[in-house]
Amino acid sequence: MAAPFSWIRPEPWGIHIVPADAWVDPSRPVPRALVTHGHADHARGGHGETIATPATLAIMELRYRTGASDDSGTVLHKAVPVEYGETIRLPGGVDATYIPAGHVLGSAQILLEHGGECVVITGDYKRAPDPTCAPFEVTPCDIFITEATFGLPVFTHPPIGEEIGKLLDARADNPEACVLVGAYALGKAQRVIAELRAAGHTDTIFLHGAMEAMCRLYEDHGVALGDLRLVADATKDAMRGAIIVAPPSALNDRWSRRLPDPITAMASGWMRVRGRARQRGVELPLVISDHADWGELTRTIAQVNPQETWITHGREEALLRWCALSQRRARALALVGYEDEDD
Ligand SMILES: [Zn+2]
Ligand SMILES: [Zn+2]
Repeated sequence: MAAPFSWIRPEPWGIHIVPADAWVDPSRPVPRALVTHGHADHARGGHGETIATPATLAIMELRYRTGASDDSGTVLHKAVPVEYGETIRLPGGVDATYIPAGHVLGSAQILLEHGGECVVITGDYKRAPDPTCAPFEVTPCDIFITEATFGLPVFTHPPIGEEIGKLLDARADNPEACVLVGAYALGKAQRVIAELRAAGHTDTIFLHGAMEAMCRLYEDHGVALGDLRLVADATKDAMRGAIIVAPPSALNDRWSRRLPDPITAMASGWMRVRGRARQRGVELPLVISDHADWGELTRTIAQVNPQETWITHGREEALLRWCALSQRRARALALVGYEDEDD
């Protein structure tokens, strides 16, 4: 009999499922990868086989051409789609089930079962509602591997309706100007747009060109985003009083000179930190995150109630301490290469 949980091994470049010789979210190319979601720090190109939800595979295909074939039509990299709730059998007698994580379109927690032991790897997740993806599902397990991007008590994300309200107020108060919102191209941008629509904002929303393909992919997967138009196709006057969505890197870029007096906003969990907003020259910080805040992290650990919690990818210390104080076994994993593309 092998030692408990010896079949699952955290390595610096990913979590190794030993009997299957497969890796979860590996940061370097491997023969077989299980990918939780499409953000660049989790989904990388170049794996022999990539097992993920259909939406994540579509996102990876868009970004890396993971299913690319050569001139003779041979598929160079194999993509294996797994639907939410579906279980696939990996080599070595390991079962993998993909469960919604509520982070971005297609994002999944991965439940691994082997020899009567079960492990859940969350990838990134949040508990707040998001009209662009399926909600997180609490899944009981022995070992719960959680992210901790916002793992400090200071991080509390307000209800998104409040932040969307600030954005709509800024726009209403400045009919001759425009509001330029910096938002990551995968997930945050579409969530902000969908929440604006849910708040009754039906006007055209203008997009930076870098947003177009991902917004179209979301719409192809059933997420309605309303009337979208490219900044490149619009006159300055047509954009007065409008909301414009662009990648954060475009906020202070020459590109923004074509806009009518932009008021700079940024949608990110880090906008809770005043200095970060100032650093980026953001006039209207919007605390909107696709990661669990402190309250969501601790509530989720309590609900999942695992034997052991493994913490990755962020501020592990405070969550470790919280686990110790609440008599929960926990350890921090030293995974490398996970950055906040997607905060
Ligand atoms: Zn992510
Ligand atoms: Zn991440």
